[in-house]
Amino acid sequence: MLKIAVQKSGRLFEDSIRLLKDCGIDINNGNKQLKAVAQNFPLEIYFLRDDDIPQYVYDGVADIGIVGENVVLEKEKDIETVYRLGFGKCRLSIAVPKSMKYNGVDDLQGLKIATSYPVISTNFLNKNNVNAEIHEISGSVEIAPGIGLADAICDLVSSGSTLFTNGLKEVAVILKSEAILVANKKLAAEQKAIMEKLLLRINAVKTARHNKYILMNAPNHQLKNIVALLPGMKSPTIVPLAEEGWSSVQSVVNENDFWEVIEKLKQFEAEGILVMPIEQMIA
Ligand code: ATP
Ligand code: MG
Repeated sequence: MLKIAVQKSGRLFEDSIRLLKDCGIDINNGNKQLKAVAQNFPLEIYFLRDDDIPQYVYDGVADIGIVGENVVLEKEKDIETVYRLGFGKCRLSIAVPKSMKYNGVDDLQGLKIATSYPVISTNFLNKNNVNAEIHEISGSVEIAPGIGLADAICDLVSSGSTLFTNGLKEVAVILKSEAILVANKKLAAEQKAIMEKLLLRINAVKTARHNKYILMNAPNHQLKNIVALLPGMKSPTIVPLAEEGWSSVQSVVNENDFWEVIEKLKQFEAEGILVMPIEQMIA
């Protein structure tokens, strides 16, 4: 069995569970227990506070974990980052009251900064030769300036709406974070082998999410143009249609180029274009 720690509830919970499910791993955690065993994969899932995950992985209570990079950097445990998962994206930023003049980090000299990330904040201030006082609080950091507890804050931001409603403005980004898969550095061979299997699946799911399967009919005289446009995994599949002079073309397109490719396909007289999600993609 491989033991994985995930957040019990909160911003990373749903995406973590969805990732495991998309990897074909059945987890039955109907009654919100601390622990669940996967039905069809040698995986045991521990549901924990995100703050505790680095420690548990370091101690080997869990072999691997899914947690925000911000938490991993703050806890400074000697664990390995195995995979960047691409969800839970946010930034750790310094914010000050809207009315405060801010021209650069030097304006933070002598201020009192409230944060739940004292380690990362202190490193940032030291690196920039700023002498400020860090005031550690565990939650609701954004209200600290409003109630006179601090002059500025260092907190997680995604849209910035929480800052806005609290009369604050974001002035410096210290860290760009996302959920990562971490592992104990001394995994036994058996656990390592299961982790590799899991990683193969995670990779397949991640790649698939960024790609679409597309299918279309095209006149044969345009096939050269269309093939040049569609790389596919090796090259596109071309199958003749019953109607003379036409073919069906099938390929895989990356989401980044998607609309551009569709527009060009139309120019090359492609018709009946079907676009389908891909569940898994194994190169
Ligand atoms: P727990 O009860 O597990 O300690 P928490 O309240 O500390 O939960 P959440 O608010 O659920 O944590 O956030 C978990 C992680 O989600 C953060 O550490 C961060 O990596 C990520 N995240 C993404 N966007 C945001 C955001 N706007 N604010 C806070 N965290 C965010
Ligand atoms: Mg937490």
